[in-house]
Amino acid sequence: MNVLVINCGSSSLKYQVIDSESEQVLAKGLCERIGIDGRLVYQPAGGEKEITDAPMPTHKEAVQMVLDALTNEKTGALKSLDEIDAIGHRIVHGGEKFTSSTIINDDVIKTVEECNDLAPLHNPANIIGINACRDLMPGVPMVGVFDTAFHQTMPKEAYMYGIPYEYYDKYKVRKYGFHGTSHSFVSKRAAEITGRDYGSLKTIVCHLGNGASICAVDGGRSVDTSMGLSPLEGLIMGTRSGDIDPSALEFIANKEGLDISGILQILNKKSGVEGISGVSSDFRDLEKASSEGNERATLAIDMFAYRVAKYVGSYAAAMNGVDVICFTAGIGENTGFIRKKVCDRLGYLGIALDESANSTRGEEIKISTADSKVEVYVIPTNEELAIARETVALVK
Ligand code: AMP
Repeated sequence: MNVLVINCGSSSLKYQVIDSESEQVLAKGLCERIGIDGRLVYQPAGGEKEITDAPMPTHKEAVQMVLDALTNEKTGALKSLDEIDAIGHRIVHGGEKFTSSTIINDDVIKTVEECNDLAPLHNPANIIGINACRDLMPGVPMVGVFDTAFHQTMPKEAYMYGIPYEYYDKYKVRKYGFHGTSHSFVSKRAAEITGRDYGSLKTIVCHLGNGASICAVDGGRSVDTSMGLSPLEGLIMGTRSGDIDPSALEFIANKEGLDISGILQILNKKSGVEGISGVSSDFRDLEKASSEGNERATLAIDMFAYRVAKYVGSYAAAMNGVDVICFTAGIGENTGFIRKKVCDRLGYLGIALDESANSTRGEEIKISTADSKVEVYVIPTNEELAIARETVALVK
């Protein structure tokens, strides 16, 4: 079965076509600058990357261009659109309504729309992508895979905020968590690699990318995670602040003459390691600047790693133990120096790092020593494959 996986942002659309039997990617790419001017990047398996600049006023034109590229006579990965058997859509926020992936129908679209004000930047874009695919490929079954669904198993004491209960009752203000597809994929893979029973394994997954979150997975269920109502809570990220005393915001707002949306703009776009270092949100730049003696770059790196280690410690406490710790996503997979800084703070858990294994990049590998009390792994995430698997499971 061939699955088209779609991940729509407000002005972008990432896609892959995956053959579910071989789990090979047949083609992948993205549309950028939708609604501005428009650019299509298309790459068939084993082929050259093609870049085409063309107007894309809406996501519908973007989807049409993707379909045209996929079926192009010379470079298309498919002979015709009939070879697309199902479409899997990443949907950011499923609120409390979606506890697992679901076949998309009118009722589902309506319910996703009801979650729009929980993710005003993401969910409307996801729905536009769904509608564009529906218009252009009517009859092809579609599945929604939610970033939040995996975390719906969290207990109430973990997901409630310490604010008046009425805000939960009236508006569903609570922790939801994100990156669920990745946390689920990586924790399952950890059980496979270690040969342990997923149903009894205690795993902490550190998804460290430009957006970063940590998840405590106890017996295959997410029991706590660092992101909250929105993806702003928790770790220090590329440009996002993570946890901060809300009173600091009133203080800054008064000093700088900002309103709430101005403050949120700063917390989302101008904070994190970029805001601290003044250098970049990218750890390649930070590592270089730090090695050249830039003190704020070093501080940003240290703060990032410290916060990760603090969350790992708190999740080991939340689960009353931990068997496996996994690092994944751009930073988790590629930066041994961050993994080392985190693990060096976790000696009390009996963690011992294999420095040679830890120096590898981007591959699945055990990075703890044979006598380490907790096993530590790098496990590359693959959210698109996870979405394709979920899609096939529901469509078959
Ligand atoms: P993601 O959001 O998972 O795509 O991760 C993107 C981030 O991963 C980038 O902003 C970098 O900070 C980091 N990253 C990606 N590749 C590397 C690399 N080769 N070395 C160091 N950091 C990397």
